[in-house]
Amino acid sequence: MTLSLYNTLTRKKEPFSPIDPADVRMYVCGPTVYDRPHLGNARSVVVYDVLYRLLKHLYPNVTYVRNITDVDDKINAAAKANGEPISALTNRVEGWFHEDMAALNCLLPTKEPHATAHIAQMISIIEKLIKNNNAYVAQGHVLFAVDSYKDYGKLSGRKLEDLIAGSRVDVESYKKHPGDFVLWKPADAGDDASSVFDSPWGKGRPGWHIECSAMSSTYLTDHFDIHGGGADLMFPHHENEIAQSCCATPGSKFANVWVHNGFLTINGEKMSKSLGNFTTVKDLLDKGVKGEVIRYAMLSTKYNEPLDWNEKLLEDSKKALDYCYRLLSKVDLMRGKQINESLMQSDVQCLACLENDINVPQLFGSLNVIISNITFRNIELDHAGFLLHKYMNLVGLLNLTPNQWFKGEGDDSAIQAQINARIEAKKAKNWAEADRIRKSLADQGILLEDKPDGTTDWRRA
Ligand code: AMP
Ligand code: ZN
Repeated sequence: MTLSLYNTLTRKKEPFSPIDPADVRMYVCGPTVYDRPHLGNARSVVVYDVLYRLLKHLYPNVTYVRNITDVDDKINAAAKANGEPISALTNRVEGWFHEDMAALNCLLPTKEPHATAHIAQMISIIEKLIKNNNAYVAQGHVLFAVDSYKDYGKLSGRKLEDLIAGSRVDVESYKKHPGDFVLWKPADAGDDASSVFDSPWGKGRPGWHIECSAMSSTYLTDHFDIHGGGADLMFPHHENEIAQSCCATPGSKFANVWVHNGFLTINGEKMSKSLGNFTTVKDLLDKGVKGEVIRYAMLSTKYNEPLDWNEKLLEDSKKALDYCYRLLSKVDLMRGKQINESLMQSDVQCLACLENDINVPQLFGSLNVIISNITFRNIELDHAGFLLHKYMNLVGLLNLTPNQWFKGEGDDSAIQAQINARIEAKKAKNWAEADRIRKSLADQGILLEDKPDGTTDWRRA
């Protein structure tokens, strides 16, 4: 089987055929760094992290570019509200973003370019668009003329006529068409100097859409394999990226495959800053929820379907991971490596789930079947455990040892000291003291297991 992906542009699941199999190229719209990432933002990052890992598994080299939007109206407003310089805000939030995504075991992309470092490339594209009659200058702004591009609306399936009535585009008087969007806007009086740039059209800052056209072409050329982002970005952001890139370089195809992740919802409503129904990744980590549990929960629904977030989802995810780690604790991964004939088929089947439009829930289902079929003779358990470990690892899960998972990675010396005291009590035949220590540890959620060799192992309940 080969990888197939649902392509928003063609509205079909298609076999993936890289432009250059020796270097698969993917661009994903990254965060606007004005506030701590919430679970909805994180879903997008986790989804493309799985796709990146899968591509790396299938191809020798993958270039994954995810930008940082560090110039934007929302950033200006937040810095002003906090009374701090823009760079202080964007540096801090970028640090939070990296910290929180690392806690979800997301790999860093190959390149993570900043919008503010690519203003020259944006200006060059805008100049080409003006020259090609796809853009015009009006009242200090440069605007893209949507009716100059015949394929405008193809990705999202919208017609120009509907844009006028249906969209929430501001209809400023200087726009020739209500759907025309900003490529460059003039600076406002009192703007922080770090958000003001020189341009042939005066001091100002770029529109949001142009930055992705500039950074994707800088690192991936004008034609690359996959472009990803959340479903909310399909229109207008991605539609506008296509219009800019294809008009600046006529004949270029921009991205072959457009992938969109579904929304993370709360009671069926999109999680978002503006609705105020958000929980940040950090909120959950601070409550003691493990990053791996959050990641598992995010992957339990297919990437392009809505995922409704609730407490039960987290509880179930924790139980599923506990089960996996408990099984792993009984497995010899090295022995499992020599998989037998029947499991060879299961191996192919597991990969096929991921190649089937990144169907992680289907993979979880297949692994479950493999595990429930094992007769608990050691050798088969090793094989099943090996496959479980291999494919969960491929999607960024089961990265700890069972010991680390159950004990946590904190300071366990106090627990070990009590276990040692209990061993000494047993040696002295002081059974009452040994029992007291066992009970005291159990009350703290620490379960002991005495081994035949006289040592004692422990895990958290
Ligand atoms: P923003 O920082 O708001 O531009 O969003 C960053 C990324 O998170 C974009 O790809 C959005 O599509 C995505 N995103 C925002 N909210 C959600 C949500 N509730 N569910 C899934 N993705 C989201
Ligand atoms: Zn973008």
